[in-house]
Amino acid sequence: MADIVVLGAGMVGITTALALQERGHECVVVDKNAPGLETSYGNAGLIQSEAVEPYALPVNPIDLMRMAFGLHNAVSLNPTYVMKNFRALLGYWVSSQKSRHGELSRYWAPLVQAATSHHGALAEAANANSLIKREGFWEAYRDPRRLARAVQDAERRKAVYGADFRSYDSKALSTNEPALKPGLAGAIHWPDTWSCVDPGALVTAYARLFVQRNGNIIRGDATSLEKAGDGWRVAGVEAERAVIALGPWTPQLLAKFDYAVPMISKRGYHLHFGGRHGLRRPMLLSDDSVVLSPMSKGLRIATAAELAQLPSPDLPRQLVRGERAARALLDFEEPVEARPWNGIRPCLPGMLPVIREAPRHPGLWIHFGHGHQGFTLGPVTAQLLARAMDGERSAVSNFGGPKFTFPQID
Ligand SMILES: Cc1cc2nc3c(=O)[nH]c(=O)nc-3n(C[C@H](O)[C@H](O)[C@H](O)COP(=O)(O)OP(=O)(O)OC[C@H]3O[C@@H](n4cnc5c(N)ncnc54)[C@H](O)[C@@H]3O)c2cc1C
Repeated sequence: MADIVVLGAGMVGITTALALQERGHECVVVDKNAPGLETSYGNAGLIQSEAVEPYALPVNPIDLMRMAFGLHNAVSLNPTYVMKNFRALLGYWVSSQKSRHGELSRYWAPLVQAATSHHGALAEAANANSLIKREGFWEAYRDPRRLARAVQDAERRKAVYGADFRSYDSKALSTNEPALKPGLAGAIHWPDTWSCVDPGALVTAYARLFVQRNGNIIRGDATSLEKAGDGWRVAGVEAERAVIALGPWTPQLLAKFDYAVPMISKRGYHLHFGGRHGLRRPMLLSDDSVVLSPMSKGLRIATAAELAQLPSPDLPRQLVRGERAARALLDFEEPVEARPWNGIRPCLPGMLPVIREAPRHPGLWIHFGHGHQGFTLGPVTAQLLARAMDGERSAVSNFGGPKFTFPQID
């Protein structure tokens, strides 16, 4: 019998297994696929030191109206989705209000601030440094007034959280990114944000490290999880304790144990484009809410959030707009894939990830809900979970409720 079985081999599950293994636990990871093929594959690849506050919904009515009428590329709303998920969305909107968001950010910021050092140590041990670029990230603007407001906000984030940045006007930006055509007013450079040229390969490298350290990864269906005596059984594995780290699929399994988790499914898309685009660092086109990430497979254009039920469209509006905006700035070729990838950011109304034991099931632990920053935060929150499982009770999080405490991150 293993000590702990971890369900899910995305960034969160694999780094959970590594953190538990480091503390002397014998772990088995179960996934229906090979590691790093789902959300942890499809993201924009940023390890985001600048994301010191969790991603909020717009709170002012004009922005909400623009979203509702499809004029906003940051969030695409579908009325059926809104009606079915009204309570969760309302909770998210409440969490996005200034005072509440400020309170949540006090818990969130230290997690994000610890992310690059945790990834740095893992990438070194996993011999995966070549997958990570440490040259920062651009937050670019066409509209000079929006750029000026963003610089003011960056100054606030620097003063409050120490997030370093430098602002560039269009001339300085084109000196640093000579492939860019004119059209941008300028950009903020966040030097401490890292980027990954193949996010799925980074998870695979971390998984290999886990196996080299005598961990075991097996294929199996997590939905078979059941109680077995004092422990847990899943996919033929028996263990004293289980951790559910299934990303966006976590609520489905928790429903089997009668937990209703109000997850907000923020779908995002990406598509790779071929050719020598020439972009040196990843760039958020803020006016269009898409990230352009230079990756091994080509230029990855990744979209913001679509709040919609399945099935998803073949060519989503946000990606069409994003490609158009990118083509105005860079020369690149046709898509590498026949159709876009899509996946779901697992977001909770309270914005913080769940890192805790299930209230009514001793030995069943939950680690999910990292929203827009799970690729960044996996290794950090994995340490918190491992500490909590070893009895450090302060390392607990919210479970859709307002009470949560995080220990200091070291
Ligand atoms: C477009 C987009 C861009 C993003 N950009 C960024 C970014 O730049 N930086 C950042 O930090 N975050 C980003 N994110 C968010 C980030 O990708 C996620 O928060 C993170 O990948 C979640 O990781 P996870 O391990 O929880 O989930 P996943 O990576 O989805 O892993 C879940 C695992 O569970 C497995 N599984 C599911 N069901 C079963 C089952 N029944 N049985 C067995 N196994 C099962 C899956 O196969 C999968 O391996 C982005 C997300 C999207 C969609």
